Amino acid sequence: MSDKSSPEHKNFKVALVGGGICGLTCAIALIRAGVPVQIFEAAAKLGEIGAGVGLGPNAVRILRTLGVLDDVLEKCNESELSTRMFRFVSGMEGHEVLYDLILVKYPESEENGGLGAHRAALLDALQKFIDPSIIHFKKRCVSVAPIENDPTRVVITFDDNTVYEADLVIGADGVHSAVRTAVTGGGENKAAFSNAICYRGLFPADMLKKASVKTDVTARSVCFAGKDKHLIVFPIKHAELINVVAFAADHNAPIGSKELEYPSVKDVSQKELLNEYEAWGSDVIDILKCIKTPSKWSIPVVYPPLETYVKGRIIVAGDSAHGMLPHLGAGAGQCIEDAYVIAQLLGHPGTTGSNIEAVLEAYDRVRRPRAQMVWEGSVKAGEIYDGYGEHGLSPQGIQEDLGGMWDRVWHHDVEDDVKSAVSWLRATTFGA
Ligand SMILES: Cc1cc2nc3c(=O)[nH]c(=O)nc-3n(C[C@H](O)[C@H](O)[C@H](O)COP(=O)(O)OP(=O)(O)OC[C@H]3O[C@@H](n4cnc5c(N)ncnc54)[C@H](O)[C@@H]3O)c2cc1C
Repeated sequence: MSDKSSPEHKNFKVALVGGGICGLTCAIALIRAGVPVQIFEAAAKLGEIGAGVGLGPNAVRILRTLGVLDDVLEKCNESELSTRMFRFVSGMEGHEVLYDLILVKYPESEENGGLGAHRAALLDALQKFIDPSIIHFKKRCVSVAPIENDPTRVVITFDDNTVYEADLVIGADGVHSAVRTAVTGGGENKAAFSNAICYRGLFPADMLKKASVKTDVTARSVCFAGKDKHLIVFPIKHAELINVVAFAADHNAPIGSKELEYPSVKDVSQKELLNEYEAWGSDVIDILKCIKTPSKWSIPVVYPPLETYVKGRIIVAGDSAHGMLPHLGAGAGQCIEDAYVIAQLLGHPGTTGSNIEAVLEAYDRVRRPRAQMVWEGSVKAGEIYDGYGEHGLSPQGIQEDLGGMWDRVWHHDVEDDVKSAVSWLRATTFGA
């Protein structure tokens, strides 16, 4: 395992709010880049609710560059990378294969390798690369603001009435972000209800045999598609466990027109889950019957999209900036891309304590259009799986509508973002 503390060669201090996938990856990338960082996390310890998370090749490449991939694979009990492409199967009886994406587009290779991770294991693996003395728990940020008589400094106020001053603050505090208010000025950009809910559950793979499920969900990610609903089923922990996320959405109401349900995550009965999918095929019903204690999630997104991720020396990243629907399995990947770009820019030799605002603006310039493209793709993907694609849910329709959907997400080179931001900074700020 690599070092926890590379030599710090920057004279400014970064405060990171939030220790989720975005915050921890950002902290590791900053440490690697020699930028001093302190992390403030609301919870008493690091952890994730929810079961699995799929990371695409774009995210996996960054974990490899940061030198953490092997540890992540080991912790997640994955011996190798795999391409997490869906096999689309009808949710209705007969379970006709609609589209087998892997055969069409993505041959297995290192470069195309993705990862199905257990969330808690992923965070655990990342945490190992961070000196515990820089993570401060039970520190719920309530506000962030520039210091009145020194706009080059930012102060965070926590709910225990303590404060912390830094040269810049990164809000990686999730979709219900407190830091975002400081960037948007408390405007209308908020965690809005996406009109989608999901039921989640995890169970041992050998339950499938007893349940006589015919569709193979142990080797690949399967998307059972149908009108207004779809289920994503994929193996994790070396196919010891099966992760299920069963969605239901109202595609006729505009996003943000209905209130988010609180609490946004709650335990529900198996009966409620089975009722939701009553008319679906036997494989779907038998898979859902394996989930003894489902949880129901009311899914928030950041909407309307932010006009900027930056205000002075305060920025947002990850779900705090662009919380999106999970239909492309790409939200965490966007968090990881944000984290990498921020750290590369702050660690750049041209970056100093006095040009931080311009460097953060460069982050906004490259990251916001990219993340927004993925945000919009995630909405579109959900529409297609739920029968609202332009060409419908037939095998031809779904292939036509989904064709190439992941290319722009997965086969994007984050180093191009860094280069483009640096070349803008050279032209405007760093000098030749
Ligand atoms: C059902 C579902 C399935 C998904 N599946 C996938 C998938 O397969 N692949 C994928 O790439 N993405 C997926 N996503 C999206 C992905 O989970 C998120 O994009 C990602 O976890 C966001 O990470 P984050 O670090 O930005 O935010 P979070 O994970 O929300 O972390 C925020 C952290 O900040 C802390 N915090 C919050 N408020 C404060 C505060 N005020 N002060 C201090 N700390 C605070 C929290 O305790 C938490 O630790 C899915 C999402 C959902 C809902």
